[in-house]
Amino acid sequence: MSSDGSKDAPKAPEKVEFYRHAVGAEERAAVDEALRGLFLTTGAEVRAFEGELAAFLDAGTGRLRGRGTGGDGTGGDGTGGALGVSSCTAALHLAMLTCGVGPGDEVITTPMTFIASANAILYAGATPVFVDVDPATGLLAPERVAAAVTERTRAVLAVHLYGQLCDLAALREVCDRHGLALIEDAAHALEAERDGARPGQLGDAACFSFYATKNVTSGEGGAFVSRHPERLARARTLSLHGMSASAADRHGGGYRHWDMLELGYKYNLTNIQAAMLRPQLRRVGELLERRERRARRYEEAFGPVPGLDFPKVAAGSRSARHLFPLWVTEGRRDDYLLALGERGIGVAVNYRPVHLLTYYRERFGHRPGTLPEAERIGERTLSLPLYPGLGEAAQERVIEAVLEVHRELGGDG
Ligand SMILES: *Cc1c(COP(=O)(O)O)cnc(C)c1O
Repeated sequence: MSSDGSKDAPKAPEKVEFYRHAVGAEERAAVDEALRGLFLTTGAEVRAFEGELAAFLDAGTGRLRGRGTGGDGTGGDGTGGALGVSSCTAALHLAMLTCGVGPGDEVITTPMTFIASANAILYAGATPVFVDVDPATGLLAPERVAAAVTERTRAVLAVHLYGQLCDLAALREVCDRHGLALIEDAAHALEAERDGARPGQLGDAACFSFYATKNVTSGEGGAFVSRHPERLARARTLSLHGMSASAADRHGGGYRHWDMLELGYKYNLTNIQAAMLRPQLRRVGELLERRERRARRYEEAFGPVPGLDFPKVAAGSRSARHLFPLWVTEGRRDDYLLALGERGIGVAVNYRPVHLLTYYRERFGHRPGTLPEAERIGERTLSLPLYPGLGEAAQERVIEAVLEVHRELGGDG
């Protein structure tokens, strides 16, 4: 073989990654600045980020920050707000605890999600009750939630799958009718809005992720948001061992003793992470616009193709466009994954339904066939590359590869 194989062999086109983060010079400068500060852990950067996140989600409604209070969004002024935490999983756990979910309780949720949602219910000692999803969107269906309420139900955990908010007005109504807490897993949906409301405005607690592949990221990180000041305050205490004051709060003035008020966890966000998040939060609109353009191009390309489908964005709904799932022929999805991988296209599966994963099957005795819509989506879904840095030419290669594979596998009938 010649050492210069590049002359004869056609150059393989570059792989289209499933995901690339959009962290750049602004975030690097902000982290550099944070590293020069006194506090590497929770401190002023985190407080500033919490205030900015609360303001962003409140969107001037006064539901998360008192109207006209000019409060810092941290709940100190008697309004709700945001708390930076180490992950969305941690935020979900805090949401369960601050909403009074405990042993013996049931929490109604969706199987079409990442395991973290359901696992948080187990952390609180409660039982997840899975109900089937709307086949057009993959989202929790309010009428199915209403039908699953028992005397043990304590809360509903809604997951804003792929970036689209659940019908929160309808879920709020069900929860109010039965005296239940409404908890939002908004890991996909920071920028979303539906019927004029954003995450955290109608729910009792909303949980966000800043994990490496999320729309806004600090590698790892999350936020707990609540419009109830007392829940926010309790979550803050629980996020740091149940201590009466954080390291930064203890700094300054003379030495003061701290106390431990209840058994808490180690769930705090650091100044380094918050420094990375603040510039991204200022750019979310622009980043969403870029994903929106790509998502619409996929919809335009696959919409008319027989045998291909995707979840629909409802009227009055602005999706955060976190993922672009494509629904292919049932039972053939893994063949699509393999063939796309061979063509250098990064793909993933979001999700196979939680109730059929080994642990959940063994512990709760779930069987296939019980939640047919979620199971059908779980058999058909694959996620295509979608991120602000996905170039037009790269996206056209993805589309071409999908259409080619679809024809080869006979998915078009
Ligand atoms: C990523 C994700 C989580 C978990 O987020 P972490 O920050 O990694 O804990 C929870 N729910 C959903 C729907 C997610 O996609």
